[in-house]
Amino acid sequence: MTREEAHALDLADPLARFRDAFDLPSGVIYLDGNSLGPPPLSAHERLERTSRREWGEGLVRSWNAAAWIEAPLRVGGKIARLIGANPGEVTVADATSVNIFKLAAGALSLRPGRRTILSETASFPTDLYALQGLVALLDGRAQLKTVAPEDLVAAIDDETAVVVLTHVHYKSALRWDMAAVTAAAHAKGALVLWDLCHTAGAIAADLNGAQADLAVGCGYKYLNGGPGAPAFLFVAERHQSAIRSPLWGWMGHAAPFAFEDGYRGAPDIRGQVTGTPPILALAALEAGVDLQLEADPSLVEAKGLALADLFIAEAEASADPELRLASPRDAARRGLHLAFAHPAGYAIVQALIARGVIGDFRAPDIARFGFSPLFLGYAEVWDAAQALGEVLASRAWDRPEFQARAAVT
Ligand SMILES: *Cc1c(COP(=O)(O)O)cnc(C)c1O
Repeated sequence: MTREEAHALDLADPLARFRDAFDLPSGVIYLDGNSLGPPPLSAHERLERTSRREWGEGLVRSWNAAAWIEAPLRVGGKIARLIGANPGEVTVADATSVNIFKLAAGALSLRPGRRTILSETASFPTDLYALQGLVALLDGRAQLKTVAPEDLVAAIDDETAVVVLTHVHYKSALRWDMAAVTAAAHAKGALVLWDLCHTAGAIAADLNGAQADLAVGCGYKYLNGGPGAPAFLFVAERHQSAIRSPLWGWMGHAAPFAFEDGYRGAPDIRGQVTGTPPILALAALEAGVDLQLEADPSLVEAKGLALADLFIAEAEASADPELRLASPRDAARRGLHLAFAHPAGYAIVQALIARGVIGDFRAPDIARFGFSPLFLGYAEVWDAAQALGEVLASRAWDRPEFQARAAVT
């Protein structure tokens, strides 16, 4: 493809108008929206309003007057529309790590007599750590079994309480068939807990269409909710009255302001909320979600995959024999980022960042590039691929300043 052809795709792009809704520095091609989305301009306004008017002037009255108390379910209901769930099935709460712990424990409570939590090896570490911590706490009453992805479906058996899987893998971008895996688990009487961190705002997921049971996801990646934005969780309506959270807090109580001594969990999605919601962070997240809701999810997914396809074609034309695509070539089996393995992966990413092309690195050797459809264009992605080609051809990465590892890669 020529740059002119890429530019022509931008002119015909129905999502092109979203670019102006973001606060992005000039001179940067941002291929890391899958790690931290950039701020929507509206997020700055919401934060300002929430801080000055609602917090500063409204003070404690704003819990009612500005509907702060409803924010977790209100924003959850909006996220529900992006992932094929109903309002009342999704709430914002805690961090993804915490929500995995809560819902995996909840899944065990829904499947008494079954001890196994099944997941895949090389999942995002925090998912595995949360499950390991849960198993350690349960001291023999549950076990975590991890298998390679190709062995996963066959490993589901009548001991399996819950399968915990990331819908789009954080490194390879391999995308599971949500409906097929859920059906296979249900056929064995097991539940599935889906991690949608790299799905929400990227892939047009349909939780209820897939008969999904439980899900969690991140607010700060493709939803552009801000650094450390709170996470969300989904519990299918049919499970809500029976599932129990292992973390009992007053915001999950059936009547928080009755101040009862004994815990009585709310019989709906609120039962998965623990403590006081982070209102400032929710304000930014709501701005990101509102913006996302203006875009057709199927267009978002199609454009992100097309941008990645363009990048693969141009990057491979650079023909560095050591650069290897470590994501599925078939777009239907991928999320919206790409992994390229290269022995100098870290230094290559640093050399690109020095040129204004921001991606990231995932150990041991993966250069990772994300293709957020709302603020990236085809010509820009074409430019980024040429920059990668130039860094490889010139070995510009082979300089001491690009080798030093920072704390966050
Ligand atoms: C980003 C990500 C997380 C992040 O969890 P936090 O609790 O927000 O730090 C968890 N799981 C997966 C698969 C992720 O991609």
